[in-house]
Amino acid sequence: MKRIVIAGGGYAGILAANRLAAQSKKEGYSITLINASETFVERIRDHQAGAGQPLPRMSVRELLRAPVAFLHDRIESIDAVGKTVGTQSGFVPYDALIYAPGSEGRPSFAAENSYCIGAPGEADRLRRALPSAKGSVVVLGAGLTGIETSTELAEARPDLSITVVHTGNLDREYSQKGANHLRKVFRRLQIRLLEDTRIQAIRPSSVLLADGRTLPSDMTIQSGGLFGSPLARISGLPVNDRDQLLVDETLMVPDYDGLFGAGDAIALPEGYGFMRMGCVTAMPLGAHAAGSVSQYLAGAKRRAFRFGFPGRSISLGRNDGLIQFTDSFDGPVERAITGRSAAFIKEQVCRYTVRMLRLERTTGWKVFRWPQGQLQTAN
Ligand SMILES: Cc1cc2nc3c(=O)[nH]c(=O)nc-3n(C[C@H](O)[C@H](O)[C@H](O)COP(=O)(O)OP(=O)(O)OC[C@H]3O[C@@H](n4cnc5c(N)ncnc54)[C@H](O)[C@@H]3O)c2cc1C
Repeated sequence: MKRIVIAGGGYAGILAANRLAAQSKKEGYSITLINASETFVERIRDHQAGAGQPLPRMSVRELLRAPVAFLHDRIESIDAVGKTVGTQSGFVPYDALIYAPGSEGRPSFAAENSYCIGAPGEADRLRRALPSAKGSVVVLGAGLTGIETSTELAEARPDLSITVVHTGNLDREYSQKGANHLRKVFRRLQIRLLEDTRIQAIRPSSVLLADGRTLPSDMTIQSGGLFGSPLARISGLPVNDRDQLLVDETLMVPDYDGLFGAGDAIALPEGYGFMRMGCVTAMPLGAHAAGSVSQYLAGAKRRAFRFGFPGRSISLGRNDGLIQFTDSFDGPVERAITGRSAAFIKEQVCRYTVRMLRLERTTGWKVFRWPQGQLQTAN
């Protein structure tokens, strides 16, 4: 038997596991997926969870195709030379490993009454704190998670006075139609947006801006971006400055035989092109990593990963949204869908991700497809 281990049961890890499971009988694979929690965390709905919306719970196990073995355990280290994964309860040897422990939000400032979107357990902590929140809330960052979180909170708690502080500018990041719509929704929800503005410090009841102004703040929400899981760095593996494991264009780690990666936790070689962390990239990477592992175990030539961004789908509360179409490189083009239709599309996108995991689980067919686009290396 060829032993395949998958480290992390998110979008990338589960899709990879199910693709390999479909070949396991023919190829003689034994597959183990290790995940720290028994529950599948639909991270793309973290802002909804934080705003207190009840969400359906799914177990990782129910999304996995037989004969994948599920190990509920926390991985503490990876020995990529000895080919073992060290968990809290022991060691798991492998012939091929797919590293897919995802990403985490990390706060830019240590502060009381501050919540970091995307960090483990923080959506739950915010949900518990929200009913007693009052006064002013400052959201750090108007990236995708900052926009989705602030609009969701404004809808859930219209009595709160919400300010979003953004180092960037929507005009540079969206089409004119997209930027106009975001500003219109912020006005409707009475969210104040400060662009080209940097936060210097978070104090107990205020936020100090780099230009010397202060904003009242009873609660801060930090959404300054995602970092790869620290596991690769802790294990002494090659990482970039966001802690993402460095893989080649076939998703294998150079110099570490049998070590592959997928999802938010990895970075492609320089020159590949910009790959935003997201479910939009994690699932294609998971599917491709499964293919690369099969080719590696069969001694066949591995194929380079190809991808093109289709667009950004953003929820703006439950009844509004923005679908910003982009070029392959995630650059906005003028076409955008706004309002209720966009909210509907966004909801379908969220459902589609889990539907694809389930469909590949039950059928064993490669039903999930993605735009191949122009992102690729010279190989
Ligand atoms: C609020 C919010 C909204 C978002 N909205 C979108 C969106 O609309 N579109 C989009 O494309 N992306 C969105 N994202 C990003 C998206 O959620 C991630 O890119 C995606 O979850 C990455 O998938 P993954 O499989 O790489 O990792 P994850 O989904 O993070 O899964 C990793 C898994 O590994 C497990 N794990 C981690 N460390 C260990 C360990 N040491 N031992 C064992 N298990 C471990 C975790 O428990 C987890 O189950 C959003 C993120 C947030 C926070």
